[in-house]
Amino acid sequence: MSRIQNASRAAARPSPARLLAVGKRHPAQAIAALAAAGQRAFGENYVQEAAGKIEALSGLGLEWHLIGHLQSNKAKQAAELFDWVQTVDRMKLVDALATHRPAARGALHVLVQVNIDDESSKHGCPPSEVPALVAAIRAAPSLRLRGLMAIPAPHADPGRRRDAFARMRRLFDTVAGQDPMIDTLSMGMSDDLELAISEGATMVRVGSSLFGARPSG
Ligand SMILES: *Cc1c(COP(=O)(O)O)cnc(C)c1O
Repeated sequence: MSRIQNASRAAARPSPARLLAVGKRHPAQAIAALAAAGQRAFGENYVQEAAGKIEALSGLGLEWHLIGHLQSNKAKQAAELFDWVQTVDRMKLVDALATHRPAARGALHVLVQVNIDDESSKHGCPPSEVPALVAAIRAAPSLRLRGLMAIPAPHADPGRRRDAFARMRRLFDTVAGQDPMIDTLSMGMSDDLELAISEGATMVRVGSSLFGARPSG
């Protein structure tokens, strides 16, 4: 996507931010078309919906990321299906994913989801809980901590959005300083990926700008 290239260049990044293509509510054929064009990493919000697509496209060597809220009773299925889970926000989930990751799949890559705007309706852990989750994930051999993820509040004021991205970046820098494997700050979507990259995102999650409007329902 040229928007990512341009924003990464403007931010003087050594390498462009990674694109995660978000295919929720789009059929497997739409994902296959992007895969044919060279896209490899795909994000899904719902375990059940993803299961069918992952199965249908299993021959393509794609990398699947869960980016939707994960209920504990779906953790086993998620640990079996996905390559990455970006929405780890509580200790119970760390334990469940670590327990259920099949050894044959290798380590599950995980991001800690942070509720950076302290919205009571949103998922993600408060920034104060990040150190404990980071320590627990790093202690689990079947999990590999790769970084942090956030979905900041969609403030109309870009200054407030920038501030949330900047706070994530500072939190990320303190975590990444502990371990060279921690290389991923996942933030920014179709509407604000340039802003996110300018504040330090290494991965942007893009749906509508790639796939067009989502089918409803
Ligand atoms: C849907 C979704 C996206 C992509 O949003 P667009 O605005 O369509 O780019 C990114 N991240 C999460 C967590 C999502 O649910």
